[in-house]
Amino acid sequence: MGTRTKLIAGNWKMNGTRAEAASFLGKLGSLKPVQRPGRQLLVCPPFTLISLMAEPLADLGSKIGGQDCHAEPKGAFTGDISSLMLRDLGCSHVIVGHSERRPHSHQHHDTDAVVRAKAEAALKAGLDPIICVGETWPERESGQAEKIVRAQIMGSVPDGMEPHRLIIAYEPVWAIGTGKTPTLDDIAAIHRMVRTALAKKTKAPDHALILYGGSVKPSNSREILVLENVDGALVGGASLDAADFMAIADSAPI
Ligand code: PEP
Repeated sequence: MGTRTKLIAGNWKMNGTRAEAASFLGKLGSLKPVQRPGRQLLVCPPFTLISLMAEPLADLGSKIGGQDCHAEPKGAFTGDISSLMLRDLGCSHVIVGHSERRPHSHQHHDTDAVVRAKAEAALKAGLDPIICVGETWPERESGQAEKIVRAQIMGSVPDGMEPHRLIIAYEPVWAIGTGKTPTLDDIAAIHRMVRTALAKKTKAPDHALILYGGSVKPSNSREILVLENVDGALVGGASLDAADFMAIADSAPI
């Protein structure tokens, strides 16, 4: 659907010092225009860089977001960050349920219920959550990808969401940081299924954004971003390089 603004979001993960952030901002500034009708850039750096990057990114026309948040607004949760704190720093979005935080990663234990609680907290604080879903390789190989992703949508997405605040990132776990991507037909099939599944979560699923994530780079972004129901990308590794990130954004059909 041509009226959905393409969202090109960068997930820096646990990367970036202040000097690296300054260098990224300088390069991004030289690659203007960042802002174009029909597309929106979003950078999600580590928490430590949000204060430093929020204003320069806003000046360039990019939004800024967090990579995760706690489900509570405040309290005795050492080391955690709340959605209210992210909002206070100027964030507009927050990623929740990234595969590196879901139980199969063995790093964190964000079940569907936890992801949903985080998404609800984000919405309450005024942030739009980017809710990540995606199957593992054994799940894909055994033909269960659609079933798994549908179940994650049902469990992780709050009910009755406002359609324009509903953003899903389909990120096959086996494609993240590996250089592998599903076939274009497989991406299109999952995105079509997600659009249909979202009818259970919002009144106007056609207005929700469904991003693809997993080894997106300048050499493959165009063929992915032109697919029907692909409304943008969640970019990991390639988002650390301003030129690559902008090349991906510029490849989006608008
Ligand atoms: C991600 O971290 O969300 C991601 C998609 O990473 P990469 O682009 O490096 O595969």
